[in-house]
Amino acid sequence: MVSGIVFDIRKYSVHDGPGIRTAVFLKGCPLHCLWCHNPEGLSFSPEILRRPERCLACGACALACPLKLEPRAEAGGQKCAACPAFGACVGACPAEALQLVGKRMSVGEVLDAIREDLPFYEESGGGVTFTGGEPLAQPEFILELLQACRAEGIHGALDTSGFAGRDLVVKAGTLADIVLFDLKLLDDERHKAVTGVSNAPILANLAALYEAGANVILRLPLIPGINDASVDLENMAHYIASLAAEAGPQKAHILPYHSAAKGKYSLRGENYAMGDTPVPSAEAVNKAAAIFEAAGISVTIGG
Ligand code: SF4
Ligand code: SF4
Repeated sequence: MVSGIVFDIRKYSVHDGPGIRTAVFLKGCPLHCLWCHNPEGLSFSPEILRRPERCLACGACALACPLKLEPRAEAGGQKCAACPAFGACVGACPAEALQLVGKRMSVGEVLDAIREDLPFYEESGGGVTFTGGEPLAQPEFILELLQACRAEGIHGALDTSGFAGRDLVVKAGTLADIVLFDLKLLDDERHKAVTGVSNAPILANLAALYEAGANVILRLPLIPGINDASVDLENMAHYIASLAAEAGPQKAHILPYHSAAKGKYSLRGENYAMGDTPVPSAEAVNKAAAIFEAAGISVTIGG
């Protein structure tokens, strides 16, 4: 059976589509957005996070390490790539000072976790949302998961950056009941600077999804200093409105920037590129919403 790397399964989410949802986080993403909320989902491999403040200095991790490393200082580093028992140190730690992020799961195992929440979906009109990372970066896995959900009548949402091959985007997007499609910036050079990739395939894939009749809800992160200038918002609003006029009024969620992920970067020994960027004011969020609404787009604030 097809399998993939999953780094979290969060129950009872109300931010990832309609109703109460199970959010399944697939590991690995080809983008590197400066404000990424899930940096632990960027790499395609399982990894180890260290929380030195929890460490009891008991030495249990070192005893478990086949490479005789000092895991409380080195776990997850380059030397661990050769580990024949990756994560043995994590299992040995009594204080959760080491955390394994990401594990291989079969489609069946993911489905088992999803099925546990069926009563909540039925009551709330919810379902499962595949997110990440970038779910389309594990093509076979996401297609099998979406197909399995469809076969079982489970509402499936695909949360994607849209950065993938056209055929895959259309196939997965039409298998999903909803596509939550992120759009960051129209200016390609600036898009490359803040995400690491061109937006050309993303925009082409969005148009292809509309053409294929997919149920698209746009997700528009509102990032101060990056895409919150009036001219950028107006250009984006006009672009969206012109894209699929025949598909009826467009729906968009404005996702105001927050810095909740800042602590995750320090766990990974990385700097947070957004520094002390403040969250957008209520006035700035309302102004952005008004710009999109004026272009005929139905706006929701938040996910
Ligand atoms: S992953 Fe393996 S090599 Fe690395 S610290 Fe843990 S037990 Fe040692
Ligand atoms: S096992 Fe955990 S608590 Fe003990 S030394 Fe290693 S990291 Fe610290």
